[in-house]
Amino acid sequence: MAKVKFHSGEAVPLEMHKVRIVQKLSLAPIERRLEAIREAGNNTFLLKNRDIFLDMLTDSGVNAMSDKQQAAMMEADDSYAGSETFTKLENKIRDIFQMEYFLPVHQGRAAENIISRVFVTPGSIVPMNYHFTTSKAHIVLNGGSVEEIIIDEGLQVTSQCPFKGDMDVGKLQTLISTHGAAKIAYVRIETGTNLIGGQPHSLANLREVSRVCRKNGILLVFDASLLADNLHFIKDREAECRGMSVRDITKAIAGLTDIIYFSARKLGCARGGGICTNSRDAFMKMRELVTLYEGFLTYGGMSIREIEALTVGLEETMDEDMISQGPQFIEYMVNDLARQGVPVITPAGGLGCHLDAMAFLPHVPQTEYPAGALASALYLVSGVRGMERGSISEQRNEDGSEVYSNMELLRLAVPRRVFTLSQLKYAVDRIVWLYQNRDLIGGLKFVEEPSMLRFFFGKLEATSGWQAKLVAKFRKDFGDSL
Ligand SMILES: *Cc1c(COP(=O)(O)O)cnc(C)c1O
Repeated sequence: MAKVKFHSGEAVPLEMHKVRIVQKLSLAPIERRLEAIREAGNNTFLLKNRDIFLDMLTDSGVNAMSDKQQAAMMEADDSYAGSETFTKLENKIRDIFQMEYFLPVHQGRAAENIISRVFVTPGSIVPMNYHFTTSKAHIVLNGGSVEEIIIDEGLQVTSQCPFKGDMDVGKLQTLISTHGAAKIAYVRIETGTNLIGGQPHSLANLREVSRVCRKNGILLVFDASLLADNLHFIKDREAECRGMSVRDITKAIAGLTDIIYFSARKLGCARGGGICTNSRDAFMKMRELVTLYEGFLTYGGMSIREIEALTVGLEETMDEDMISQGPQFIEYMVNDLARQGVPVITPAGGLGCHLDAMAFLPHVPQTEYPAGALASALYLVSGVRGMERGSISEQRNEDGSEVYSNMELLRLAVPRRVFTLSQLKYAVDRIVWLYQNRDLIGGLKFVEEPSMLRFFFGKLEATSGWQAKLVAKFRKDFGDSL
């Protein structure tokens, strides 16, 4: 993506691609959206695509493929074992990450299953900058525990800190001296830290973390699912890296880590995943589990066509125009919202734009799920589907009491190369209108609450008749507009 200056002086992100395949969208009237969100139990995971205008639920598996990726899929060399397509991917991994061994898996969490089974033992600890839902679940399932040691700025909603995803190296050293290196299964760094708003870490921080790990003989595992965004931010924000190419930054990162794994639903605009390492020992231990849980070593649960697309997608990730597209769109959206007074996570990160629901709806207590209420309200007034990342996404304690999350966020993901700027402007317009009418929004309460993964399947209802009032105000302000 290029950022060009308009003659007014405004810097506007400019798409460095053209769209040659389109999918029709529809925007149902607000009365239908009210029915749809009620049918979905005010849970955006349960909405049907046909009722959605802009799907900003996630960036997972919904990034647009390029013409070159689609063309490569036609060349797929399908075979159970020894596929030429797999050899191409292996060579691309060696080229980009300079890692000798590669294991394919069907998606990111499958890599986490395998890594946790091999390296996490009961009672062991995994220090990390911040957890991702599936990463933590696999570590806990194998008897380990997670220690989150992100820098303090990482948890501040608004900040000027360019690298909110950095690990607090002092805290890492304290953990090692308190528990001893032997108790630490591995250190995990998540690039483009997902749950705190797609915030990046710096190369300098990774270097420090790596130094401490190597000095203490501890394995450094790097979750590269959101690497594309983080590469963009390192190049853009880290002074010493400005002169480096994206490829050189990638090699520098890889050289500091022992195991890299990723979800190809995000990295490489395909579907699948992988684990890379230079350690023959680690490779041999994980290899058996890949054949057990994923499939033979030359496909690992991925379709061969997706492997072709991934190989091309990884190469495209080395292109600045490609990786800057998402972050620059997000920055445009975040800055426009912030300028109009809407509480958003700053600075803009990767992945999406994150609304701060506690500041947006200060009158809705955490017991009534402000982030969930905001997700429901935004869908209602716009047809935009976001994802609740707040207390509904937490799980109750064993005694049934609620776990309230540090932040109540509504995440509006911006899948790569999918939306146009006018679509984002529409989303911004409706969010600003909603903010001006925020007093009308009330809370939610569960009517069906599963004990596991309630955010996927749970159903809620409005605590009062606030949704009908919001519809009436919308009609008053927008007339018969959708
Ligand atoms: C999405 C994601 C995963 C899990 O990947 P899946 O392909 O969804 O299983 C792991 N780590 C991070 C940082 C992610 O964003």
